[in-house]
Amino acid sequence: MKRVVLIGAGIGGLATAAVLAKSGYDVTVLEAHVYPGGCAGTFYHQGYRFDAGATLAGGFYPSGPMDVVAKEAGISGWAGILDELAMAVHMPSGQVVRRWSDERSLEESKAVFGDQVEMFWRWQQKTADALWNLALRLPSWPPKGLEQISRLAFTGLSWIQQDPVGRLSPVLFADIIRPVTYHLRGLPEAFRLFVDGQLLISAQTTSEQANALYGASALDLPRRGVMHFQGGIGTIAETLAHSVEQNKGRVIYRQEVKRIIFENDKPVAVEGKRKERFDADIVVCNLTPWNIAQLTEDSGWDRMKWFSDRSEHFSVFDSGWGAFTAYIGFDGSIVPKDFPLHQQKIFGEPLGEGNSIFMSLSPEWDVSRAPSGHRTLTISTHTRLEPWWRLFSDDPARYEQKKEAFLQEIICKVEQILPQLTNAIHLALPGTPVTFQRFTRRKAGWVGGFPQKDLFQAWPARLAPGLWMVGDSIFPGQSIAAVALGGVRIAKEIKSSDNIERMQPI
Ligand SMILES: Cc1cc2nc3c(=O)[nH]c(=O)nc-3n(C[C@H](O)[C@H](O)[C@H](O)COP(=O)(O)OP(=O)(O)OC[C@H]3O[C@@H](n4cnc5c(N)ncnc54)[C@H](O)[C@@H]3O)c2cc1C
Repeated sequence: MKRVVLIGAGIGGLATAAVLAKSGYDVTVLEAHVYPGGCAGTFYHQGYRFDAGATLAGGFYPSGPMDVVAKEAGISGWAGILDELAMAVHMPSGQVVRRWSDERSLEESKAVFGDQVEMFWRWQQKTADALWNLALRLPSWPPKGLEQISRLAFTGLSWIQQDPVGRLSPVLFADIIRPVTYHLRGLPEAFRLFVDGQLLISAQTTSEQANALYGASALDLPRRGVMHFQGGIGTIAETLAHSVEQNKGRVIYRQEVKRIIFENDKPVAVEGKRKERFDADIVVCNLTPWNIAQLTEDSGWDRMKWFSDRSEHFSVFDSGWGAFTAYIGFDGSIVPKDFPLHQQKIFGEPLGEGNSIFMSLSPEWDVSRAPSGHRTLTISTHTRLEPWWRLFSDDPARYEQKKEAFLQEIICKVEQILPQLTNAIHLALPGTPVTFQRFTRRKAGWVGGFPQKDLFQAWPARLAPGLWMVGDSIFPGQSIAAVALGGVRIAKEIKSSDNIERMQPI
């Protein structure tokens, strides 16, 4: 069977690897770090297990994205605990809106923002249902060439035929090009702010810019309940890595890839830090386009040259967000009973930069996450990349000061939801885009993929014959469920292009 080398054991890479290994490919995953998961990994420090980036696990419902991933990867099930309460959102007014997996969500939203918001949520649910239904059929996106366009048309047609009632509405078609803000016309300003807060964490942009179809599905993930995993979010990546190994694949840690080697514009091997060579028929990069540009810089293959440091196109600083994170280990006795495990607090606009924060607490029952009686908290806020990097290179002492000051500011803000936090803290670690680059290798600490503004701007996953990109830089973008589903889609595309190649006359 063909040798597939995957660079990176993030969720996108591992989902692709697991499906290919199950299909009999000779799979090797090379991971720079000592554990899997990347932005959705869990790291160990002084007795605590902190979720590094992602904390909220959505999409695990029956026939949902993670269910499809499990089936395709031969995983018997996800050993998590389902929570009907996805999160609580604190508005600047002090009002709290909880997002449940059932009609309670709509009722609470109406109680806070008025009955007229029901129309928005009905549109969102109907659209998201239709889109997930289509996405779960794993069509190629963006479609390229006659074969993929006709396959997409066929998939779309069977989708329409099986579910003709109301789904192929003119609204759905118009939403292909218009932003979410269209559906917020006439609704209260406070509701618009609530939606913007939710969109920023799920689509990386707000209602004025977020494409309506992307937006509807991004807002949907908490709707069917979220999962909590013993050991933290990293358990998802560990489950996928285990599935790769069970199907005779390898996941090799501490193996940073430095170069992709090409012959006649086809990748033939990758080279590790110590010049180890891994021969490959197919290379899959679970990397950002800027990272792929770095690995291919001197290869003679220049498709990614637009993303190189020398290029003026696609500046990483202008293409999305970084994250500032705080990892807190603290005395769990201060946590009130029934305190929601995921919470968002909006202080004002512009969102991000500490004006909106997302925080997640380890469940009380998960004693593996902290020393006895203690809990962990991961807090994050969107932040611009460039100021951090400018300070880091021009004035390292001020960079350290800013990092510490931002950490204290965020802790003070969380104290509004969790009083007495400061006195209960045992350990507090800050993370900036510089930290994210160091630990996930993502160029400049760029996280969350491209803001979901335009359905047709998605970068194609097939970069060259035998070279693919997976993860949150390709359709359908960021989130554990989205990159995992994207990984399954790419594994299927690899298998089908392989079949086509084999059928070609020599
Ligand atoms: C702060 C934050 C909060 C988030 N919150 C959520 C959330 O609550 N819920 C949710 O669903 N999503 C959330 N996300 C998004 C989600 O985490 C990501 O979209 C997803 O995990 C990205 O997966 P990926 O497959 O693109 O790989 P990545 O996570 O980018 O992993 C890539 C892997 O490749 C490795 N690697 C890189 N370069 C090399 C190399 N040269 N050689 C070998 N290995 C290499 C890295 O070490 C890493 O392990 C959040 C993201 C962030 C940053």
